[in-house]
Amino acid sequence: MKTQWDAIVIGSGIGGLAAAAALADADKKALVLERHAKAGGLTQTFERQGFRFNVGVHYLGGLGEGQINRRLFDHLSGGRIRFAPIPGAYDRLHFPDLTLDFAPPQTALRATLKNAFPAEAAGIDKYFAALADGARALGNVFTIRSAPWPIATPVAWSNRQAIERWVGRTTWEVVCDCTADERLRAVLTAQWGDYGSRPLDGSFAAHALVMQHYLDGAWYPVGGSGVFAQELGKTIQAAGGEVRTSAEVTAIRVQGKQVAGVTLANGEAIDCARVISDIGLHNTLRRLPSSEIDYQWMSDGYDMQPSMGYVGLYLGLEGDIAAHGADAANRWFFDDWDINRLWRDPFDEPRAPALFVSFPSLRDPAHEPGPARRHTAEVVALVDWSAFAQWDRSDPTGGLRPETAAGRESYAAFKDLLHRNLRAQFDQRFPGLAPMVKMSEVSTPISVAHYTGAEHGAMYGLETTPRRFLTPALRPRTPVRGLYLAGQDAGTPGVTGAFFGGLMAAASCEPKLWSLLR
Ligand SMILES: Cc1cc2nc3c(=O)[nH]c(=O)nc-3n(C[C@H](O)[C@H](O)[C@H](O)COP(=O)(O)OP(=O)(O)OC[C@H]3O[C@@H](n4cnc5c(N)ncnc54)[C@H](O)[C@@H]3O)c2cc1C
Repeated sequence: MKTQWDAIVIGSGIGGLAAAAALADADKKALVLERHAKAGGLTQTFERQGFRFNVGVHYLGGLGEGQINRRLFDHLSGGRIRFAPIPGAYDRLHFPDLTLDFAPPQTALRATLKNAFPAEAAGIDKYFAALADGARALGNVFTIRSAPWPIATPVAWSNRQAIERWVGRTTWEVVCDCTADERLRAVLTAQWGDYGSRPLDGSFAAHALVMQHYLDGAWYPVGGSGVFAQELGKTIQAAGGEVRTSAEVTAIRVQGKQVAGVTLANGEAIDCARVISDIGLHNTLRRLPSSEIDYQWMSDGYDMQPSMGYVGLYLGLEGDIAAHGADAANRWFFDDWDINRLWRDPFDEPRAPALFVSFPSLRDPAHEPGPARRHTAEVVALVDWSAFAQWDRSDPTGGLRPETAAGRESYAAFKDLLHRNLRAQFDQRFPGLAPMVKMSEVSTPISVAHYTGAEHGAMYGLETTPRRFLTPALRPRTPVRGLYLAGQDAGTPGVTGAFFGGLMAAASCEPKLWSLLR
């Protein structure tokens, strides 16, 4: 099929941008189609009253000089995306009677943990060894899913037991194997908000991969997360590609088991024999003609649920925030030691059991506070979707849609309640900062669903459970010829995970790109 484009990429999240930029590296012209008016997906930024906020980026791992993530970002952006190391601790955990810093190097973190739990030194060493094994096992899962079969088959054969052991077990099972101390179990699994499945449900390997990639420290993109779309977009355009916004794909066309192109919401049809989808597995399945979907693929795909949603609080502050309690570390506040507790019903339960707070302006060397000393705080509380389901636009049986007058009123009232409650929780944790807040806004899973199309406003695509990583449904190469899956569903949650998801899709489509990933 001869068309203007070598590939169409649906969605301009980091996964779609990575795929298109990698194709550009192979001199291929990709057309990226984005439904929103702004490119970047969860890496986009937005402004309110002159304060700029990131949507889905607080810190990134594995970006030390010479590490593969760094090498690939440098290569695909021509070195234009710069990363600033977060000085000191990247995470600070606050439990009711214990505060702990997670700071590099790994030996220092081990010492911090052993200092807090002197009787558990052996269990802590066992846990760190499990992190390395778990991360390696998940890396092998991706090789098996995506590499050409002469490479994938021996890897699958020689690693089947390790995969069962680390990918097939939950974080809680593995951590309980390492220690019987309930408080240490909570500390070791506390950052599950980084990948969106409670320790009781999530695959240990996902926990291991994400935790492991921060062990050498964390970084922040200089200028904010908007630089990803800006700079990778230049790479895509330099090869003759394009990033087109306000271009929603409503259908992926298929002819005789081969992808034929896409149709946009405005009715425009664009032909292309290669389509890379960065919009998640479920959204991809919904855009395919049902007669062309492989039954096993569909049932495996719909067998998985979306990951957790979240309520976000965005604060614009004026003043010397560093002198009043803020610093560059992410702060994780827990009301108790029950780390598996989920915020199920914010109607009846005003306090989120766990609160994540970061101050991005303090870690960005490009941030100019100006004479008013302007800064931002981003607050995240993970929440169960069910409390928001009544306003779900995509549910045909849904009751109170925000579009109807009654729906608008009740949704606005609920948002207002959430806003007041989260502000009160923030003010209680940071009393010195409370008077400096000049602007405050809240987002819900409904906002995320609206802006990114994410099912249930999910933070990280599909659930990060063992079945997600063991299913064959999430291979970059789908059962439809010419159709590939990119982004976090094909990779792992997180910017670098979704970036790799995009690269695996591009390499499956253009095999010479495998050399980039070697
Ligand atoms: C609050 C929050 C904090 C986070 N913090 C971090 C962090 O600190 N570090 C980290 O590494 N990760 C973090 N993440 C996770 C990270 O942002 C994501 O894993 C990653 O950005 C996902 O990229 P993606 O390309 O897979 O998907 P997305 O970014 O969701 O991109 C999908 C794109 O597809 C578009 N789209 C959807 N449907 C269509 C359609 N029909 N037609 C055209 N376009 C369509 C969407 O609008 C969107 O732009 C965070 C996420 C959230 C929500």
